[in-house]
Amino acid sequence: MTEILSRLADIVGAPNLLTAQPDVAPYLRDQRGRYEGRALAVVRPANTEELAAVMQACYAAGVPMVPQGGNTGLCGGATPDDSGSAVVITTGRMRKVRAVDTANDTITVEAGCTLAELQAAAEKAGRLFPLSLASEGSCQIGGNLSTNAGGVHVLRYGNARELVLGLEVVLPDGRIWNGLRGLRKDNTGYDLKQLFVGGEGTLGIIAAAVLKLFPLPATRAVAWVAVPSAEAAVRLLGRVKGGAGERLVAFELISRATLDVVLNHIAGAQDPLPQPSPWVVLFELADSDAQADLNGLIEKVLEPALEAEEALDAAIAHSEAQIEALWALRENASEAQKRQGVSIKHDVSVPVSRIPEFLARADAGLQEAFPGIRIVAFGHVGDGNLHYNCSMADPVANKALVARTEEVNRVVHDVVASLDGSISAEHGLGQLKREEITRYKAPLELELMRGIKQAFDPRGLMNPGKVL
Ligand code: FAD
Repeated sequence: MTEILSRLADIVGAPNLLTAQPDVAPYLRDQRGRYEGRALAVVRPANTEELAAVMQACYAAGVPMVPQGGNTGLCGGATPDDSGSAVVITTGRMRKVRAVDTANDTITVEAGCTLAELQAAAEKAGRLFPLSLASEGSCQIGGNLSTNAGGVHVLRYGNARELVLGLEVVLPDGRIWNGLRGLRKDNTGYDLKQLFVGGEGTLGIIAAAVLKLFPLPATRAVAWVAVPSAEAAVRLLGRVKGGAGERLVAFELISRATLDVVLNHIAGAQDPLPQPSPWVVLFELADSDAQADLNGLIEKVLEPALEAEEALDAAIAHSEAQIEALWALRENASEAQKRQGVSIKHDVSVPVSRIPEFLARADAGLQEAFPGIRIVAFGHVGDGNLHYNCSMADPVANKALVARTEEVNRVVHDVVASLDGSISAEHGLGQLKREEITRYKAPLELELMRGIKQAFDPRGLMNPGKVL
């Protein structure tokens, strides 16, 4: 093994080959602290050529490779197993913005650019890169693409898959595939780049990407609306889409239980409305015309909803600070829950029209099987995506519930499957849902996926134990 380590040190330089325990430790534990692995070393290549040489050396030596970006993934996809045989390859030093083409509305960046750096580079060029997640300060575009990240703007701009035009990828054996094309039309056979998007590092390592840019919004407006039910929220979504069209960029649903967790655990958080309601919707409109009266448009859209009692009350932000304060209530939902304690988390999607049915059936099924269970549901309801988290208020009962995670998952995921939904809407499978997915994907789908894996990674060295 010292042979491969000295070869890797030759490629990246000794300071970029980490082997000492305190240096490697942060790379061996996942974001939630749920998984901890071991590794031969952590390698930090500076560019595509070094990355390719590293992978070629690992391939030749039969060493498994675990790609890692910002390590913010929520399914243990970037954490090695505990065999200690793998090398973690981190893209953190590959962070160049290679080109911005404003006429083509594209930006070409290396995989290790954080999402926030990429957004800032786009803004500097007078453009918007719309992918936006609460982890954007740390997650990297390579990780975003590899998990097909979603976030709050999918409704208007699509998820990572829809934002990518081209990729540069290093294959497991070290060959570089240059697919860095900035084309919006290219019908020359199979769309290979899309196999790496959402591939969670199991087929190769994304080294760089050409991404779509959009006009920068000149003005935005945010409303916080109390609604009586999830049905009312879905009807409101229809109204807002009808009234605001393309100006609607985000539409989020937050349950009362979720808001209470945020109010209890986040310093300075305040309920914007005087009366509690079972559900709240937060939606945002944006326009590239600075003169557009978006608050007026929100009022116009909400008026009939209030009359029909689909909306109970509403607060509209009147300053950037108020907009940020409303968004903070939503963005802090995950952090607040973390502070509250352990919960069993689900990241599911169903057709938007079936969200109320999902909630009704999953809630009823869980209450029957686990009386007193506490459900915290929130998410990107405009995309049919809910984060649906379960716990018990009493710590001892909660520990017992967590020990029964598989049974809780069965109730939730069976309802999802019966509604033609997905058990992983935006976080991926990683190691967390690798077994679970075999229950819900058709055998033919799994067979085809294994065939793709075999074609790209016949020796099974790329991110073993993840996805499949
Ligand atoms: P990592 O965690 O490092 O890796 C994720 C997976 O991608 C792993 O399987 C890894 O092996 C692989 N990988 C990483 N880089 C590469 C590469 N260059 N080539 C090939 N494979 C690679 N996700 C959402 O979709 N929407 C959200 O709204 C959202 N909100 C979040 C909020 C918080 C507070 C946190 C902590 C996470 C959130 N996430 C969300 C999850 C996470 O941030 C995303 O999955 C993100 O895209 C992961 O990027 P990363 O660079 O951290 O990837």
